[in-house]
Amino acid sequence: MNIQAIVEKYIEEACIDNVCTDGASIILMNPKNGNVLAMANYPDYDLNNPYKLENSEGLEQKEKSLLLQAKWRNKAISDTYEPGSCFKLVTASSALEEGIVSGPDNSGEFSCSGGIEIAGVRIKCWRYYRPHGSESLRQALMNSCNPVFIGLGQKIGVHKYYEYLEKFGFLRKTGIDIYGEAGSIFLKEEKVGPVELATISFGQRFEVTPIQMITMVSTIANKGKYVYPRLVQGIIDSKTSEKTEFEPKFGEQVISEKTSETVLSMMNSVVSEGTGKNAKVKGYSIGGKTGTSEDGVNTGKYVTSFIGVAPIEDPEVAILVTLYNPTGEGGHQGGDWLILGQKMTVKKCKKLLKNIYRIVALCYNINQS
Ligand SMILES: [Zn+2]
Repeated sequence: MNIQAIVEKYIEEACIDNVCTDGASIILMNPKNGNVLAMANYPDYDLNNPYKLENSEGLEQKEKSLLLQAKWRNKAISDTYEPGSCFKLVTASSALEEGIVSGPDNSGEFSCSGGIEIAGVRIKCWRYYRPHGSESLRQALMNSCNPVFIGLGQKIGVHKYYEYLEKFGFLRKTGIDIYGEAGSIFLKEEKVGPVELATISFGQRFEVTPIQMITMVSTIANKGKYVYPRLVQGIIDSKTSEKTEFEPKFGEQVISEKTSETVLSMMNSVVSEGTGKNAKVKGYSIGGKTGTSEDGVNTGKYVTSFIGVAPIEDPEVAILVTLYNPTGEGGHQGGDWLILGQKMTVKKCKKLLKNIYRIVALCYNINQS
């Protein structure tokens, strides 16, 4: 209840601060057992008064019920979105597991010239105007460099890549114990050519649910073993007080413990040396990845997200924050802040990150006590 209250407070603040026209969602999960510690959406509604609608005077009944349905929608499990750069964690994990990359710190293993040509199509790095140049895998993740992940995707190949999508649970519903879970939207494997594979490798042109994303990062954090998300840990019979406890459910070993450690260490670098370095919470080791993508094709709307775990040495909490169409001050001009969100300023991002870390830190303490 405490964690849920904290999350609801900060999601509202983030939505208002960043003028998110299409709302937001946050999920917190314990990667060791799949327990959902908190799940919140904004805008939300009062559970004691679910039919209450603000500013609905003069509306037809049909319009009112549409507004209500939008309010009641659990975006965290019922809505799909393009995950953007957060998905580079899947590409990095698969490439390390397949031995396609020698390790995280082989400096000069990769090179960014601002773009890469795939089947006659030039796909740009987000920082095409000032290419990243020579990079290790860790640096590529910290820079969120598209060409490196496109190159890795090509080396993994469509068939293997889809095997990892399957193993990480992206080609099926998670089966979480609540109504309304949506499935993902991927091209069929046989329809995926080199260009499609390239865009999948850096998180675009397909859609997943937030619950699938946090399950993926929880699996990485759970020493590479797939963990099923769940809301119900047990049931107490109100008449007999009889308790029924449910065991957490695990799936297969998706990546090795060693790969899991490497990916977590790289996620830690993203936060400690990358975009988040000014927003650290002293005393907590946090790992994460940021992502931005367009919400649909040529809509001019964006989805900005952060996916993280803490503490990095032995993760207890995984978090996913998804902001739909933040339209706060900022714009589309380039700059390093683009990594975090094309429509958010450095200042806004810092505040958002600080709040995310505060949530993680607070929840970690509560979870411990
Ligand atoms: Zn680059």
